[in-house]
Amino acid sequence: MSEVEKLVIIGSGPAGLTAAIYASRAGLEPLEFIGTKYGGQLMLTSEVENFPGFTDPVLGPDLISRMKGQAERLGARLVQEDVTGVDFRRYPFEVRTPTGSTKALSVVIATGANPRRLNLKSELRLMGRGVSNCAVCDGFFFKGKEVAVVGGGDTAMEEATFLTKFATRVTIVHRRGELRASAALKDEASANPKIRFLWNSEVTDVLGDAHVEGIRVRDVKTGAEQEMKVDGLFVAIGYEPNTEIFRGEVELDEKGYVTVSRHTESSVPGVFVAGDVRDHRYRQAITAAADGCKAVLDAEKFVKERLTLKAVS
Ligand code: NAP
Repeated sequence: MSEVEKLVIIGSGPAGLTAAIYASRAGLEPLEFIGTKYGGQLMLTSEVENFPGFTDPVLGPDLISRMKGQAERLGARLVQEDVTGVDFRRYPFEVRTPTGSTKALSVVIATGANPRRLNLKSELRLMGRGVSNCAVCDGFFFKGKEVAVVGGGDTAMEEATFLTKFATRVTIVHRRGELRASAALKDEASANPKIRFLWNSEVTDVLGDAHVEGIRVRDVKTGAEQEMKVDGLFVAIGYEPNTEIFRGEVELDEKGYVTVSRHTESSVPGVFVAGDVRDHRYRQAITAAADGCKAVLDAEKFVKERLTLKAVS
């Protein structure tokens, strides 16, 4: 590693890897910390049918592997380490990992967000085999089937409504007797004849060996449990952005997402942001990838200006 890197990328989902591809081609010789468990949410996705360029469905991990290979072929240096801390108050910036620290003229944060989980063993085991966090990605696979959606917020309503395009019946399982969702989305879901609500209920188990065959649901008021036959379970209980290491270093919004001031730039000039770590609206592989490209175009301009300034001073 050189003394001061032109660009360090943190994260390795579609945003981080696209950033690495663009940065390599821009001559920024990027160093990317991909994390010990690299790849992000796509690693838990089965077939991806909506990423342009693939006539046949591609498996989420395969898509990541192709992006990774492309970045490496173009010269990006990918390091399989977790970033444990950053210092954006000094310049050049500092990025720390368990084995050392790296100085950088610019940084792209692309650490993503994790969907909140129910924390059931069966949920994890059947992830991508009927358990999903993304109706837009996986809804198509439930044509003519019955599914359940967990959650009472805007995402749950949107996912449930979207799923009625394919599923014959969608059951929203919510832990309270009242929805958190906005009136418009709540009304839309309530008026949909394919949607029914199971109130004051929580999912205690996902049933099935190779794929989801049903769920066990507990009435939180009476404690009574019942089994429900469904082919899919969509967990829509919110997201947690991976921003813990950036707290106090860049501005975060009230939900913990990195805020963007100008284009893709964070509150710190020279620190750019891409993908789900700043975007809680679109959350698609393709939008994250596009963000990674934009962040690098901004970083390239920033670094060029810095190097020009240095040359004339
Ligand atoms: P959210 O608003 O935080 O809602 C999460 C829902 O999941 C809540 O109903 C919550 O129940 C439930 N929940 C949380 N943990 C749970 C658990 N362990 N077990 C069972 N249920 C659990 O998250 P979101 O719906 O993803 O929305 C996130 C943000 O994005 C919101 O600000 C939302 O307005 C916005 N958003 C907007 C749109 C839109 O405008 N079109 C679409 C999607 C999201 P309780 O209600 O009991 O807490």
